[in-house]
Amino acid sequence: MKDCIFCKIAAGEIPATKIYENGSFFSIPDKNPKTKGHSLVISKKHFETVLDLNSTLGSELIDCIKGTIMKLMKAENFDGFNVINNNFEAAGQIVKHFHVHIIPRIKDDGLEIIA
Ligand code: AMP
Ligand code: ZN
Repeated sequence: MKDCIFCKIAAGEIPATKIYENGSFFSIPDKNPKTKGHSLVISKKHFETVLDLNSTLGSELIDCIKGTIMKLMKAENFDGFNVINNNFEAAGQIVKHFHVHIIPRIKDDGLEIIA
């Protein structure tokens, strides 16, 4: 989709270091990380929210989330992680292209996550 930053990254028009990738999703470091290693799993096709994804993409989505976390675990030390997906503006979605945040956590890091 024109003027969509994540579509441009998916198309290679904007360079980004991929952490993990499969047929339908890839992951990159978040440019404004909330904790060390904060990463985004992004769909290769433009979907606005999770409601637009066909359920058949579920296994590839989980594969990309897990593959990304495994890679991060080799590079960084963390005690846990949050997997978060914001849908629509009211829920904090800024980039209107489906993505999932992976936020590594360290015990008592003080980061407040709504859930
Ligand atoms: P959300 O509020 O769920 O839409 O989050 C969008 C996220 O995308 C934010 O955490 C931004 O820091 C991140 N972001 C925006 N543009 C880029 C980019 N070009 N590369 C990496 N992360 C980005
Ligand atoms: Zn897009």
